[in-house]
Amino acid sequence: MINFEYTRASDIADAVRRASAEPRAKFIAGGTNLVDLMKEDVERPTRLIDITQLPLKAVEETPDGGLKIGALVPNSDLAYHPIVERRYPLLARAILAGASQQLRNMASTGGNLLQRTRCYYFYDTAMPCNKREPGSGCSAIGGFNRILAVLGTSDQCIATHPSDMAVAMRALDAVIVTLKPDGDRRRIAISDFYRLPGDTPQIETVLEAGELITHVELPPPPKGIQLYRKVRDRASYAFALVSVAGIISVEGGKIASAALAFGGLAPMPWRNPAVEAALIGQAPSTAALTESRLPTSDRTAPHCPTPASG
Ligand SMILES: Cc1cc2nc3c(=O)[nH]c(=O)nc-3n(C[C@H](O)[C@H](O)[C@H](O)COP(=O)(O)OP(=O)(O)OC[C@H]3O[C@@H](n4cnc5c(N)ncnc54)[C@H](O)[C@@H]3O)c2cc1C
Ligand code: SF4
Repeated sequence: MINFEYTRASDIADAVRRASAEPRAKFIAGGTNLVDLMKEDVERPTRLIDITQLPLKAVEETPDGGLKIGALVPNSDLAYHPIVERRYPLLARAILAGASQQLRNMASTGGNLLQRTRCYYFYDTAMPCNKREPGSGCSAIGGFNRILAVLGTSDQCIATHPSDMAVAMRALDAVIVTLKPDGDRRRIAISDFYRLPGDTPQIETVLEAGELITHVELPPPPKGIQLYRKVRDRASYAFALVSVAGIISVEGGKIASAALAFGGLAPMPWRNPAVEAALIGQAPSTAALTESRLPTSDRTAPHCPTPASG
């Protein structure tokens, strides 16, 4: 039995104030990840700050033609929002490729970005896990790691980030906007938001203690076709073995621009500028993305202690 205090924030500043006053406080939005982790004894917050009543549920167009998405917009509402369906279809597809309808109705935009890894050993408190208990070891290296990372890993952790939505947002160059306990607002490019595990796999983002995501901004939709493909063990209700969010524009029969973000491969949604550059100027075909066109350095994972198959 975990004892914790439950409190409901009355406004945004109040939420941040309550979180910063208690080192082991956690915000709770849809609760679809955090409550599971508490039930499994993986997360042990001493204070839960319910943010569900905060005014962060709007999806609004920005003056530059982009989109501002409140942190509490449910995943379902975002996927079926007319502007998202029309102008950011890869985001709609990525969200709908994840979880189930009931979960998407509960899950929030901020919570989805901050959901934790699905590494089996992270959930199994009988097994060592550096992310759950720093310094205890990593059971996945040398264990069952078929669903885990092959890029951006360290000898401390090879977990992947499980969000589909974050992969689409990475291809779209989203910006995450926060409120810090000192009252400052931060705008964090999604490329800078997640951290590689290194020696501190328990620290997954650049967020400070008590910092609240208030919304996510998308720039105007880039030119080109948008696609999201997810490979998984079951047709639904399964996390990605690998996924890709792609935005490709073609001019005069040649690829003019390309943004490719990969999920299921790394501790964060993964982009490699060399892969995108290799496509520019080629005629679109399955042969366009060939290994031979990449420099050798881009074919090698930064650290890959074990193969990602178990
Ligand atoms: C069976 C199952 C299958 C699933 N399948 C998929 C899948 O295929 N693809 C996929 O992408 N996801 C999947 N999910 C995960 C689901 O998408 C997440 O659980 C959900 O998005 C989390 O959102 P939430 O609002 O419920 O977060 P919560 O559980 O409320 O919170 C998650 C974390 O985010 C923090 N947090 C929440 N909001 C904020 C905020 N505004 N600012 C700062 N911190 C915040 C909380 O403190 C907590 O640490 C699955 C989940 C389950 C249970
Ligand atoms: S891969 Fe990371 S999350 Fe999984 S057991 Fe190792 S340290 Fe824990």
